[in-house]
Amino acid sequence: MQKLKELTLPVNEKPKKNMAGGIDCKTCEKEIPAFLRDGLPNRELGIFLRHLDGCRDCQDELSIQYLVYAGMPKLETGETFNLNDELGDFITLEKNRYRRRMRLKVTALLMEFATLVLTLGGSILLVMLW
Ligand SMILES: [Zn+2]
Repeated sequence: MQKLKELTLPVNEKPKKNMAGGIDCKTCEKEIPAFLRDGLPNRELGIFLRHLDGCRDCQDELSIQYLVYAGMPKLETGETFNLNDELGDFITLEKNRYRRRMRLKVTALLMEFATLVLTLGGSILLVMLW
């Protein structure tokens, strides 16, 4: 009987804080309004999306805020609104936007590198010919 008592968890014990993507839920929740306005800088957007992928609580919170942000105006005008579909589309759109921005960043870095190599190569060639 004593052993069984030791094995049961205290009822009040809270689940471990979710640190998906490197941020906690409090930080994530604070960024939801900016996310819905597409106002998150690229770095924050990446972190936010990674946390969201790994955190059910924040997905629920986002659903609620999305409903208020995008759903209510549509319901007032009588448009049909499917929360899950539209939120899913919105997240996919933001993920694609993030990937596009990252690709642009990498391309810009590669171009800079190529310019540097060409400039250096050109200078060396000039010195050798001189
Ligand atoms: Zn969370």
